[in-house]
Amino acid sequence: MASSADAERGGEEGDGAAISVVEWQGWGTSSPVTATVMEVIEDIKALARDSDAPMTFGGLGGKLKGTFKDQEDKKHRSVYESICDSENKMQFFSARQIACRLLGNRGHLCGKCWLAMEDCMCSRLVKCSLWCSIKFWLYMHPKDFLRQNNTGKLLWQIFGIQSAALCLFGIREHEDIMWSAFRDSGKGMVWFVYPNQNSSPMSVEDLFSSGPFTGLESQKMDFGEKPLNFVLIDGTWSNSSAMHRRLKERWALTWGEEHLPCISLSTLGASVMHKLRPQPSWDRACTAAAAAGILWELHLVPRLSIYGLDKQAEAVENALDVLLDALVQRRLRKGRSITRKERHNNCI
Ligand SMILES: [Zn+2]
Repeated sequence: MASSADAERGGEEGDGAAISVVEWQGWGTSSPVTATVMEVIEDIKALARDSDAPMTFGGLGGKLKGTFKDQEDKKHRSVYESICDSENKMQFFSARQIACRLLGNRGHLCGKCWLAMEDCMCSRLVKCSLWCSIKFWLYMHPKDFLRQNNTGKLLWQIFGIQSAALCLFGIREHEDIMWSAFRDSGKGMVWFVYPNQNSSPMSVEDLFSSGPFTGLESQKMDFGEKPLNFVLIDGTWSNSSAMHRRLKERWALTWGEEHLPCISLSTLGASVMHKLRPQPSWDRACTAAAAAGILWELHLVPRLSIYGLDKQAEAVENALDVLLDALVQRRLRKGRSITRKERHNNCI
């Protein structure tokens, strides 16, 4: 039988070595290896050396299994409880989630597309340059990290990590890099894409018709060195409120303002997309589809129509099709049904 992601895996494939910078950055980040994640990995490895139970992983999340899992759970729970500071507790939680995913998936998942090696879709993806005056940030919950059906990862696969950067929630090094970039770009240049949080969020059209970029002439649309930053919150619905809260707190600390500047996708962009794709495979709420929606709407701003944003939006939609196909093929190969519910779950 072919190797299966659902079968248990021993920890031999890579647990003997620490996570190197090359390996860490191979998963989609430009940051140095984060200290908290390294500490948790060292702790798990030390526990494995002292334990009689083998370190095994299984399933698509690369979760620990068996007796060793119980031992590890117990140990980490006691560490967690011993931390008094809520910020440190949160950072520890994130680091542990990420450390376990890294250990459980190394050697098994493709580092680029986060699919099992046998399902790797990298060769089918078409890369594209994103307009240099915008930048996406994928603010990702640790539970979404290395998830096969995560769609945020597609953005840096297509546009590269300089144009679409990963920022893991609760990982200090990542968050510092992101906020430092925001400070550098300036307050009016950072927009959070997060539906249903703001009573009257701006639309992309508002940004250019009545918002901060109203007076800009086409020759000035190049924002120079400072890109317009769009932050996409990449987590399940239940995790996203904590992520939103954390962003809001840091925004208030940075700029002394209570409200995050949010933008929402308008129905105008949706109708354009609908015309091109009468049967969209993905919900617009999924992260990559939201990015495509923003690009479509930017493209509809007359002054921005010369930057090829429609082609960039299409590149994202094509990548979504490739991912959906890879996930469907995997299920078919494993003899599982492709129900509507499964498809829908892919959109979260
Ligand atoms: Zn791949």
